[in-house]
Amino acid sequence: MPIFTVSSWKETGTVAQARAWVNSLAKEIFPLVKGKEIIVLPPFTALSAVSKDLKQLNLPIKIGAQDISRFEEGKHTGEISAVMVAEFASYVMLGHSERRSQLGETDEIVAEKVRLAKKYNLTPMVCVSEIPQAEALKKLINDFSDLIAYEPVFAIGTGKPDTPDNANEVAGQIKSIFPQARVLYGGSVDGSNAKEFTQQKNLSGVLVGNRSLDPNFFLEILKNV
Ligand code: PEP
Repeated sequence: MPIFTVSSWKETGTVAQARAWVNSLAKEIFPLVKGKEIIVLPPFTALSAVSKDLKQLNLPIKIGAQDISRFEEGKHTGEISAVMVAEFASYVMLGHSERRSQLGETDEIVAEKVRLAKKYNLTPMVCVSEIPQAEALKKLINDFSDLIAYEPVFAIGTGKPDTPDNANEVAGQIKSIFPQARVLYGGSVDGSNAKEFTQQKNLSGVLVGNRSLDPNFFLEILKNV
């Protein structure tokens, strides 16, 4: 089973910055990829350029988007649909706690997006910050079998990660709710703590925000998972 190592850029990065990130990984990434599924989640505007550059450089990194529209197509100004994202990406992150707290994303909306993602062959990576969210999701998408990122709100962007033991325990509870899903941990992961998380029995990888924006720090994480 590969170790998932995901870099999420949030609302960061012009096309030029995204291309520079990809190009700086090119020199050093090849010895670090064995046994890993490396996924980058740039902003929508950089998906096309990142996809072209990854192909050209033949880099073993998959692309994901940070969201999709809950609507399939049509009169939804400003929205970006699953089929549009699927032109460039194979994964999509859904239900991040920032979207839930800042943009009113509910479990119902996340469930609609999961259905659309699957319809267009995007692998969903659903973020949950606590067990009740996983339980609510279970009622809406009973047979979810893809990726779940356990991301406690107190650990996101704070430099204060959860303990690996507790992350493992929560991941175990998530797996008892969704036995087919693979669970990642996210929240203040860096090169010094990544391995402690990926070594846990119930965790299949890490989702990294801040510490993955600098390609050198991301390489450090890849060396240590
Ligand atoms: C995130 O926002 O999903 C995240 C994990 O951020 P950070 O690594 O910066 O805590």
